Order: sequence, then structure tokens, then C-alpha cells
Amino acid sequence: MYSEFGISDKTLNLMRECESELKEIFTSIDKIEEINSLKVLNAFKKEKVEVAHFNGTTGYGYNDLGRDVIEKIYSDIFKCEDALVRTQFISGTHALTVALFSVLRPNDTLLSINGKPYDTLDEVIGITDNNSSLKSFGINYEQIDLVDNDFNYKEIEKRLKNSFVKLIEIQRSKGYSTRKSIDIDRVEKVINLIKKVSPETIVMIDNCYCEFVDTKEPTEVGADIVVGSLIKNLGGGIASNGAYIVGKKNLIKLASERLTVPGEGKEVGPTMGMNKQLLQGLFLSPSAVASSLKTAILASLMLEKIGIEVEPKYNEKRVDIVQNIIFKDKEKLIKYTQGIQAGSPIDSFVTPIPWDMPGYNDQVIMASGSFTQGSSIELSCDGPIREPYIAYMQGGLTYNYGKLGVMKAIENIIGE
Ligand SMILES: *Cc1c(COP(=O)(O)O)cnc(C)c1O
Repeated sequence: MYSEFGISDKTLNLMRECESELKEIFTSIDKIEEINSLKVLNAFKKEKVEVAHFNGTTGYGYNDLGRDVIEKIYSDIFKCEDALVRTQFISGTHALTVALFSVLRPNDTLLSINGKPYDTLDEVIGITDNNSSLKSFGINYEQIDLVDNDFNYKEIEKRLKNSFVKLIEIQRSKGYSTRKSIDIDRVEKVINLIKKVSPETIVMIDNCYCEFVDTKEPTEVGADIVVGSLIKNLGGGIASNGAYIVGKKNLIKLASERLTVPGEGKEVGPTMGMNKQLLQGLFLSPSAVASSLKTAILASLMLEKIGIEVEPKYNEKRVDIVQNIIFKDKEKLIKYTQGIQAGSPIDSFVTPIPWDMPGYNDQVIMASGSFTQGSSIELSCDGPIREPYIAYMQGGLTYNYGKLGVMKAIENIIGE
């Protein structure tokens, strides 16, 4: 059966060898999954989820009991005041955009303290010109770069003492960069500093790919608003779209009135039959995240053993579900990505090739044989065609499917 799937004994043996070395690490991931499952189940119990909550509304979406219960559950899990969990968000970027536009006003300053934010925010902020950007509304943007993968605490303190900063954005996951992702302890440390120097500054976290990787979320260490996508971790591979914003009540009100209408906010927004998916996706999320982590760690060790540079290494603490694979070879990046596609359940017969994606300076190759378009809690892999030819791999709804996909990809680079 393995050879029918295109996996040689060599790759299979390498996988077995790595897997047996990873037992202890996998056990520690199981423990985190257990705690996060408990968090979810407790919230479901507390909010008394029942079958009636699966019913959706249409039209304006008044009195959507399921939607309201989902938002209460998110507030419980994030231990915060309020939540906005909506399928009207078309992506994580959309939710980040809504959060930024809801808080920032002309002449306000937005400060990023981990260097340049995620690529798709360039036109939102106005780093790349756009007539609808924050910049076009007179909102200033500043950034402070990381030093040695940590915040530049001195520079941040100096800037905050200089003049008022309305909002600080912290992006935990690395995006298309080579820096390390930012763990919850560092987030806590820097928020403590920010709140000491400038208590009125709003701290917003881009939490994409980080949910349930650890047992604490940023709202538990002082973040005012936290944002993420439902076609990543918290959708558990079941939510077909959507995103969330959680945090302080007044800020969620602002965000809801930017997403919908001033004066209506959270009271409207039809769910049209999606409540069950959002609930079931959240229910499965701790397990999907654990499977994704195991898939990433297995790939990290297997690739290291065949001489390919990886970040993080298999035994490093994980902050997100993303695995960087530094091929330093264009052909290998392409072959690996094509292997991930071939090991996917959907469109396995399609061969991805590099293409000119809107919004990117380099060509990009992407493998995403997923049930939900662009879902990256499902096994997926992409990389810009530029040196040092890094693949960004993430997801894996179950560890076994993730493992098979990784073997298929590795076969494609060592094969013959
Ligand atoms: C995925 C992601 C986003 C949002 O991307 P969408 O594709 O718009 O959902 C934002 N920031 C980071 C770090 C991400 O990984």
C-alpha cells in the first residue's frame, strides 16, 4: 500500500526511526491538547450548548442564539470580556483590518513592535500605497524591529515616553519571515512594559496559527484585543470560513460596529446554518492543532536527518504550527511543495507551479489540497521563490494524514 501511494522503504524507515525518537515530545503535546480540550468542554458545559444552537438565522440575523453562545464560549476560552466570531469576516486579514479601523482615528499612531507585519497588511496600513489604507485616513504607522528574536524593550519604552501611541500590534507567528515566533511569556513581558509606561495604549495581537499551541492565550497576559482566522487553528478544519476578535468589551463593540453598522454591532449578522460548523470546529481544534504540531515536528526531524536546514528544530519549543524548511535550492522547494500536494486528499493529481500572486514581489508556489479553499489548518505548504528558498508548511487535521503527506513530499526530494 505504501508503494502504491509512492513511498519507498527508505522514506518509510526514516519516518519510523524519527517517530520512535519523538515519543516523549508527542506525549507533551498530548498533555497540552488535553488541557485545551478541557477548556473547550468546560466552556460548552458552562454555556449549556444544545441542539437548538445549531439553528441559524437569515436576513438581519436578530436573536441568533447559536451565534451568541459561540461568542460566549470564545470569551470563556480566552478568559476575556467579549468576542466577535463571525463568518462575515472573509479572512484573518479582514478581521485584523476591522480591528485596526475600528480603533484608529485620524492622527493616531499605529506601532508594530515586531518589525513589518504580515504581507497582506501592507495595503491595509499603507506601507504599500492604497487609497483605502489607514494612511489615506491620516493614521500614522511606525515600527520597531526585533533584535535577536526579541523585542527592543529599550526602544519601545523610549517611543512610548515620547508621545502617545494609540495602538501597538504584536504579530506572534513569523509569517513569511525567518524570525522566530513569539511565545506567550515574551508577549506577557512586553505587555507589562507597555502598560507600565502607557496604560492607555491598546495592545492588539495577531494570534494567527498560535491558538491552542500552548495552554495560555494572549488575553490572559494583558492583551486588549486578539485576532485570528477560523480557517486556521480554531476552526478545527470544520469551519468553512470566518474569523474572530476577542478582548475588552468596549473594543469588541467598536469592532462589531465597524464590521456591521454603528448602533447595531453584534446584534445583527445571520449565521445561515454555520453555527454547528463553528461549534464542532472549535470542539475539534485542540486535536487538529496537536496533529499539526506532530506533523511539523516529524517533518522537522526527518528533514534534518537528510541534511536540510529547518526552523524550528524538532526539539524546540513551539509557538505556532508553522514549520520553516530552508532548502537553499529552488528545485527542492518546488519538488517538496508538489509532494505535499500529491499527498493531499483533494486535487492530489494537480501539480502546483510558481506563479505571480497579487500582492507579492516574488513568484510563490503553494500546495493546498484542502477541503476548504486556502485552509491552512489542513496540511498545506507554500513559499516565495527567492533565496534561501524556504517552504512554510503547516497543518494536518490528523497526525496520520499529516505524516503521509510529509512522507510523500520527502519522497519527492530524495526519491528515485
Ligand atoms: C494567516 C495569517 C494572517 C491572515 O491571513 P488570511 O489569509 O487573511 O487569513 C495574518 N497574520 C498571520 C501571521 C497569519 O499567519
